[in-house]
Amino acid sequence: MEIKSAEFVISNTDVRKCPEGTRPEYAFIGRSNVGKSSLINMLTARKGLAMTSQKPGKTLLINHFLINKEWFLVDLPGYGFAQRGKEGRENIRRIIESYVLQRPQLTCLFVLLDCRHEPQKIDLEFMEWLGENEVPFAIIFTKIDKISRGRLTENLNKYKERLLETWEELPPILLSSSETKDGREEILDYIQSINR
Ligand code: GDP
Repeated sequence: MEIKSAEFVISNTDVRKCPEGTRPEYAFIGRSNVGKSSLINMLTARKGLAMTSQKPGKTLLINHFLINKEWFLVDLPGYGFAQRGKEGRENIRRIIESYVLQRPQLTCLFVLLDCRHEPQKIDLEFMEWLGENEVPFAIIFTKIDKISRGRLTENLNKYKERLLETWEELPPILLSSSETKDGREEILDYIQSINR
C-alpha cells in the first residue's frame, strides 16, 4: 500500500469523542519505549507524526491519524509505566480498555513487542485479555536491526512457545525495524489485506 496522505485528526482520552463514521481503524499499542512512535512515523513516512518518548505529552492519549483519507491509524497510550504509580496506571488502563472494547471500527490491534526481550508477563496477560474479549490482534516484533538473525529466531521461538501455552493458534506475527524500514511493506500490505 502506498501512503499518499497522513493527517493528524484528534487526540483525546474519551472513546466517545473519537471520530464518527465507519472508517476502519488499525491501532498500535505496547509498553513504553517499545518503538511505537518510531514505527508509526516509519510506516507513514512522516517524521514527526507520532511523538516519540523524548517528547511526552500526547503519549497518554488516543491519537487518530487519517491515512489516504480512507482509514485511521490509532496511536494508543503505552502501558506498564512503572514510574506513573498505581493511579496513573489505572487511568491508562481505563483509557485503553474503553477504546479497545467500545470501538467497533477497530479492525486490528497491533501489539508491539521488543524482539530483544524475553516474554514479559504484562504483554502475555494483555494478549490473553484481548483473546477473552475477542479483540482481533496481531503481534509486531520491533527493533529487529538490534540483534542477529540467529538471536531473533531464538527469541521468536521462545515467544511462540509461551503463547502456545495459552493459545491454540498463534496470532499473525510481523517483524519491523524503524531504522532499516524492514517490515514496512509487510505491515501496510497486511492492513490492506484485512481492510473490510
Ligand atoms: P515509544 O515509547 O514506544 O513510542 O518508543 P520510541 O519510538 O520513542 O522509541 C524508543 C527508543 O527506541 C528511541 O530511542 C528510538 O530511537 C529507539 N528505536 C525505536 N525503534 C527502533 C528500531 O527499529 N531500531 C532501533 N535501532 N532503535 C529503535
